[in-house]
Amino acid sequence: MTEIKQYDVVIIGAGPGGMTAATYASRAELSVAMIDQGIYGGQMNNTAEVENYPGFDSIMGPDLAEKMYASSTQFGAEYTFGRVTGIELLDHNRKLVRTDMGDLEAKAVIIATGSEHTHLGVPGEEAYQGKGVSYCAVCDGAFFKGEDVAVIGGGDSAVEEGLYLANLARSVTIIHRHDQLKAQPILQERAKKNDKIKFLWHTEVQAIEGDEQEVQSLSLINNQTQALSTMSFAGVFIYIGLKPNTQAFLNLDIVDQHGWIPTDEQMATKIPGIYAIGDVRQKTLRQITTAVGDGGIAGQAVYEYVSQLND
Ligand code: NAP
Repeated sequence: MTEIKQYDVVIIGAGPGGMTAATYASRAELSVAMIDQGIYGGQMNNTAEVENYPGFDSIMGPDLAEKMYASSTQFGAEYTFGRVTGIELLDHNRKLVRTDMGDLEAKAVIIATGSEHTHLGVPGEEAYQGKGVSYCAVCDGAFFKGEDVAVIGGGDSAVEEGLYLANLARSVTIIHRHDQLKAQPILQERAKKNDKIKFLWHTEVQAIEGDEQEVQSLSLINNQTQALSTMSFAGVFIYIGLKPNTQAFLNLDIVDQHGWIPTDEQMATKIPGIYAIGDVRQKTLRQITTAVGDGGIAGQAVYEYVSQLND
């Protein structure tokens, strides 16, 4: 039988929150494992340009992820790859973190699993993923050089990524179900000034259509007049919000009715020794800066928690 590796802290998720918590906890000389099912960086890897992170006028999301990863591992925190399938509570305050790559045991666990893009749920969305439907402009934008693309949504992500796509595509049509954007005013102004960006208000997508190879058009409905239309697009980028990655923790009964995890100011959940940080936490502002703040607080809180267990 393989021996289960023991740590003071296991951090699930290596986005900005998880990586900051790893920096703090390992710098306090706790043994730390950070586990992620993908590359470290989380949503930063899907973000073209970050210009609201202190210290940088502007930095590419993946570059910021690299820098954070270097800091997070400099004091000995380990980074491992694996998909966490659950947490079990053991005797003596220990927690078993089950993963598809083997199990880990820890005195404290920090959940930093973030969130993922909500899907529209319309016909064609799943079938055309990778064939014109995307949730990541940074990853897929270059495939649509000189083409007409649609962006669905009206929040910060839709407008910010629409601006990024306007550098590549022939035109970007932001399709929104209201007649006003929800995005920060600075982003709205930039988009409205950009000649390549058009807006389609009060409009919802009914279906994504194409041939066997790729997306060709969207079936749309105006939600005021009920008028139906079809518009040609080579790509559709969907940015209609986020949903929490908390499926693996439902047995612990620590999530609210929408799936987010409530915590106290120390990032502690209702289970002693289990913390939650970053986008997965019940909060009002989901940003890199707020995830980093959560990570620092949790890194210090686990140090205090583990120290009192050891006393
Ligand atoms: P969001 O703020 O939740 O906005 C989602 C948008 O999509 C809303 O306009 C929403 O309209 C619309 N929507 C939702 N469901 C829809 C559906 N089924 N069909 C059509 N439209 C739909 O999501 P987000 O833009 O992805 O941002 C997520 C979080 O990250 C936010 O907290 C945001 O501030 C943050 N963020 C920040 C930055 C930055 O600071 N630079 C950049 C990106 C993201 P309704 O209002 O009708 O629901």
